[in-house]
Amino acid sequence: MTDRLYYTDSYLTRFTARVVERLTWEGHPAVILDRTAFYPTSGGQPSDRGWLGGIPILGVEVREPDGAVVHILEAPLPGDEVIGEIDWPRRFDHMQQHTGQHLLSATCEQLLDADTVSFHLGAEVSTIDLNRPRLAREALEEVEERVNRVVWEDRPVRAYFVRPEEAASLPLRRPPQVEGPIRLVEVAGDEGGRPFDLSPCGGTHVARTGEIGLLKVLRLDYRGQETRVEFVCGGRALRDYRLKNGVLHHLAAMLTVGYWELPEAVGRLQDEAKEARREARSLRERLVEAEAARLAGTAVTVGPLRVARAVEENWDPADLRALAQKVAAYPDTVVLVASVGGERVHLCVACAEGAPADATALLRAVAEPLGGKGGGQARFAQGSAPAASRQRVEEALEAGVQRVASREGEGAHSSHPAPGPKELAHLSDTAVGGTGAPS
Ligand SMILES: [Zn+2]
Repeated sequence: MTDRLYYTDSYLTRFTARVVERLTWEGHPAVILDRTAFYPTSGGQPSDRGWLGGIPILGVEVREPDGAVVHILEAPLPGDEVIGEIDWPRRFDHMQQHTGQHLLSATCEQLLDADTVSFHLGAEVSTIDLNRPRLAREALEEVEERVNRVVWEDRPVRAYFVRPEEAASLPLRRPPQVEGPIRLVEVAGDEGGRPFDLSPCGGTHVARTGEIGLLKVLRLDYRGQETRVEFVCGGRALRDYRLKNGVLHHLAAMLTVGYWELPEAVGRLQDEAKEARREARSLRERLVEAEAARLAGTAVTVGPLRVARAVEENWDPADLRALAQKVAAYPDTVVLVASVGGERVHLCVACAEGAPADATALLRAVAEPLGGKGGGQARFAQGSAPAASRQRVEEALEAGVQRVASREGEGAHSSHPAPGPKELAHLSDTAVGGTGAPS
């Protein structure tokens, strides 16, 4: 089994070793050494990076069942005597997060009687899962205070091996999960008192708590019977502070307020946006009202009907619908409206109560030449067509008006030419001809 040098010295960054086996690991060349300072993926902590004989290491894994440490390499490694170099910034970051986790877990147990059931050291943030549902944020603030006091007291952190029978009589935070000699990590307690934390662990830790710098809880995530605590330590806490401070000052500058006034300023913006939406709605309603009156005024007389049409710019379908319905509230009126300028042309046709016309047939007559479609009932129909020029849509509506006119011609009282057989096929049996008043 590989001699793990980091067990006794987690600050060792350069070492010599002998290759004892060469292998292929998931398609990459890999070696096993007689001894190593590289930490392999285990216990929720990612593996170290660095170089063996100058060749970058892609990953470090434990081979089961013999427990050998496998160094996965970017390229084959020549020679049997090699120099290993640890990527120290990454290692030290892991030491800060991991030792911070010991303090956090120990303090959660002491203050909240909450046990850590799992730990994950992530690329950005780390998490522990506590076996308690919905722990309050305030409770974790108290934990955070105590953890950081222990950090600033710069207490020694020691790692050492004990025999299993020795371990049985020690106040361990959690039971050991290995057989044979057990590696314990001890964070010193008060002078002469029991350790602040004593737990079995095979990871890499800082030598004094002061090196953690700071531990900050970022957020809590309630997951059924457990509470997940997201936290950062050391350099990560600084970067997190820098990022959030930057975002906060940027937002404050955008709103020209102090950052402490942001909640109030954003609340004001929300109120203003709400008020603006309400006002826009009311203006749209007035616009629809005014446009309906204008359209009704431009309607032309076709037999017993008044026919109005209009092409609007960028109206949304709901407003177009409201417009058509308002115009159709005028007696004997048929209205054809469209909106252009968007991704599609929107179309609506509405007929006044009792007006002898079929909105659905008219809508189809307008939509089809534009390559669109739609449907509805005798008094109201709507549809859409692919985007088209204003002129094409005007022409399609005009064709619709002509259709109303030609339908009038069916009664032989109109000056318009009679409809062709194709158009006749669309006429509904409710159509009444003639130029007299509607029945
Ligand atoms: Zn540990």
